Amino acid sequence: MNLTLDEIQNFKGKYPKQIWSLFFSEMWERFCFYGMRGMLVFFMISQLNFHEKEANLQYGATQAFVYAFTFVGGLFADKILGFRKSLFWGGLLMIVGSLILATDPHKFFFLGIAFTVVGTGFFKPNISSMVGQLYKPNDSRADAGFSLFYAGINLGALLGGYLCIAIGKGELFGDFISEGMRWNIAFGLAAVVMVISLINFVFTQRSLGTIGLQPGHPLSEVKSATMPKWKEYGVYILSLLFIPIIMKMVSVPEYTDYFMWTVGPLTLIYLFFEMSKVTSSERKKLWAALVFILFSILFWGIYEQSGGSLSIFAAKNLNKDLLGLDPNGVNNSGGAFFIIFLAPLIGLLWIWMSKRKIEPNTIIKFGLGFIFLGLGYYVLFATRFFANLQGITSLNFFTIALLVITLGELCLSPIGLSIMTKLSSKNLQGMMMGMWFLASAYGQYVAGIIGAGLATTKEGATNYDALITYTEGYKQLALYAVIAGVVLILLSPFVKKLMQEVK
Ligand code: GLN
Repeated sequence: MNLTLDEIQNFKGKYPKQIWSLFFSEMWERFCFYGMRGMLVFFMISQLNFHEKEANLQYGATQAFVYAFTFVGGLFADKILGFRKSLFWGGLLMIVGSLILATDPHKFFFLGIAFTVVGTGFFKPNISSMVGQLYKPNDSRADAGFSLFYAGINLGALLGGYLCIAIGKGELFGDFISEGMRWNIAFGLAAVVMVISLINFVFTQRSLGTIGLQPGHPLSEVKSATMPKWKEYGVYILSLLFIPIIMKMVSVPEYTDYFMWTVGPLTLIYLFFEMSKVTSSERKKLWAALVFILFSILFWGIYEQSGGSLSIFAAKNLNKDLLGLDPNGVNNSGGAFFIIFLAPLIGLLWIWMSKRKIEPNTIIKFGLGFIFLGLGYYVLFATRFFANLQGITSLNFFTIALLVITLGELCLSPIGLSIMTKLSSKNLQGMMMGMWFLASAYGQYVAGIIGAGLATTKEGATNYDALITYTEGYKQLALYAVIAGVVLILLSPFVKKLMQEVK
């Protein structure tokens, strides 16, 4: 604890050195998370004999709950645990969840998943908030830092997303692992990497100075009375009580609808209550944060077609003209692959532009994010012009669409994390980061609805009909994205006013 916050934030060069440790903890956590997420649908169908539709609905429900819990995790971090303890507690729950699944995935499937949902809620928003605290509020290098951190996220996603399912299916190490043990090992791997993430974090803590300390800690940046121990233990117990509730909620898809319709309005009411307690300048910034959060729902709603309708499109309508690769594999991991290389480059581009005073501000970056997303979807639409009469089109061209969509993601997602930390008052950082991810929960939810709307091809329709229906849908989504981008850019003077000195 020998570094002061000032010493940390006054770092020389492009990145603070602590970012690397947070990068690795988050990378392993995302390995665990995406490793598990990548196995869910396949495991439910092939091992638990779920119907396709049921498996998809339950998958959607887990995703919605995971991101909804980030709000709870962020809130408790602000009020009681602090970022570090929250992260540690979340990591422990994720390890327990993965171990339960490793022990007997067939019997304890939903129990293991419920632990992971709650654990991710405590881990995910709070590590991102700590990255934000490595920077002074107006440090123009923050977006580049978040872009680098985002590369770590995607490196974990790519490795976990590929390795876990490949082991489970026996495609990797199939000769060494007996058939009956493959899924246990695959889930066990998620537990092992999560342990690495936490060990790495324990060593990181030493270099974090006062960042992430519990409220009430004598050295904490936000001064408050010492936190009574019962409150801390109360949070731990409460989060365990959530587990059986989540198990139930995930297993009945209609509950997700009720949940989504209630949790959003309640969260907004709570936010307005917190907004009534801050200064008027802080309140304006929170309004600006809310604009970004609301737009991001639309972004993720369109973007997250990748897990739904685009995976069906990839399976039915794409050839293997890209190095003979499997179209679904490319759809699942192409984005993460591009991000690993592009995120640091785009981060450096922001720094380069900032030095020349030509860096676009956050609203314009968001607007560009939507415009790239829209262009990417127009490219998806255009795949129809390369199709043969059987409705099979080019994977190469599809991959170009992924690249353009990824550029959009990089203008919005890491920038969103960064702006949340800049616009939130000190005592609301975790909660606002949680709200940012809650928007992703709604995005996933909206994505499912949009995807279902796209799947209007009739029984007996040919692959060619499906191609036309899907690509027509993508054209419409492209248009919505471009319109959203233009609206954001038009709104920019107004949002800028709310943001005040923040860029
Ligand atoms: N892919 C990113 C991550 O896993 C963003 C997720 C999101 O906000 N929807 O962190």
